[in-house]
Amino acid sequence: MIETRKSKIVAKIADNKSEIPFLTSLFAAGADVAWLNTAHQNEAEALEVIKRIRATTTRVPIMIDTKGPEIRTQGLEKPLEVKKGDRVILTGDKTLVGPNVIYVSYENFHNEVKPGTSVLYDDASIEMVVMEKVDRGLSCELKSAGLLKNKKSLNVPNVHISLPALSEKDKGFIHFCAKNGIDFISHSFVRNKADIDEIKDIFKQYPEYQGKIIAKIENREGFDNVHEILDHCEGLMVARGDLGAEVPLEELAYMQKKMVEAALKKGKYCIVATQVLDSMIKNPRPTRAEVTDVSNAILDGSGAVSMSGETAYGDYPIEATTMMSRIMKYTEEKRSELVHFTAVPEVSSPAYTKATEILAEAASTNAQAIVISSDDMDLIRALSAHRPEALIVPVCTRENDARELMLAYGVRPFFSKTLDLEAVFQAIHASSLPKDQHILVVEQAGGQYATKTMVTGKVAKS
Ligand code: PGA
Repeated sequence: MIETRKSKIVAKIADNKSEIPFLTSLFAAGADVAWLNTAHQNEAEALEVIKRIRATTTRVPIMIDTKGPEIRTQGLEKPLEVKKGDRVILTGDKTLVGPNVIYVSYENFHNEVKPGTSVLYDDASIEMVVMEKVDRGLSCELKSAGLLKNKKSLNVPNVHISLPALSEKDKGFIHFCAKNGIDFISHSFVRNKADIDEIKDIFKQYPEYQGKIIAKIENREGFDNVHEILDHCEGLMVARGDLGAEVPLEELAYMQKKMVEAALKKGKYCIVATQVLDSMIKNPRPTRAEVTDVSNAILDGSGAVSMSGETAYGDYPIEATTMMSRIMKYTEEKRSELVHFTAVPEVSSPAYTKATEILAEAASTNAQAIVISSDDMDLIRALSAHRPEALIVPVCTRENDARELMLAYGVRPFFSKTLDLEAVFQAIHASSLPKDQHILVVEQAGGQYATKTMVTGKVAKS
């Protein structure tokens, strides 16, 4: 049975919550892409999770998150409880010891951040202000109470930190992704084209590797350069957690919509991330605001929405995934009634020309689905970029193509060893489309495409 939901669900998987029965339920509930976070995993741990995902299914793509120029807390022996007005010392110098000293993952941190600067802990859940520079560290005053722990993010809004795009750990993981055929690399804090090029330089050592780069945009520099960045990678993630700490919160919705629009115009993948069904980490039902946020992300034109804590460590991962799937399906059904996003692809290429012709024919026959036997990935991505009403069911002969397309809006790939008519019929039978629906069948032979319209429930095997 082929799922008819068009928007895609990206779900974070933690190594301590990745047993095969759990993954089986998560994918059955609708998770389309498995997302691993290397901030919390080393290569051996990631490999274990990958093995479990692959043992569960070979159809779900894996996306590995590399951390980029981000700063995290380290070295606390136990969580440190702080009150408003308390002082802590932040330092990148591991030789400094003492009470309330917190190490950060960038050795030059205390030399680059000046007194008066705000430092935001864990997606800005706690703010501290640098009061003065002390010997090898920064004395910071807490603006609110809370519990400071290791491995949490620190943001320093509007301060350019001279960290390289790739840490040594990131480089190791990019080699790891290439060696293990990982479908997507989502790279954090992409600021410009040069950050993407550093990843591509490593890819050159693996000419066979087909992995795709998703740029996580999480600061103003990345937002300002989003068009340039999109020209050099396959998609973006609107990483609202860090972005909301790096820029004033009132700018978030504007930035989300502009980034989704940019991705749509360039026909690239787009994922809206973070705190989407956050309350479902602890509760079986989401807030009304969260439900509306998912719908709005889809109406903006995003092809996918992701979950982090909801699936990585939350108490209701299956319920959250089911809820997200329900919201998406309903929103997709009602989309045409709502005056909403207007962005359309602005790419001119043979694939986009062909896609426009196919979509015009599908619309003229009121086709509910387009079954297409073609290995032309550019054409299938171009069809998806138009966010059509019809479901796109490509018959893919390469497993990695079928996996990549799990992230594409409106595309439900069907894997088959051969690109023949028999495979097309199987795809039609495997779809859950109701009876008596028109489907446009597009067959590729050499450089030519032949189309015909069929009706579901009346398709006979050849
Ligand atoms: P994260 O990225 O999962 O690495 O936090 C998403 C975000 O910052 O929103």
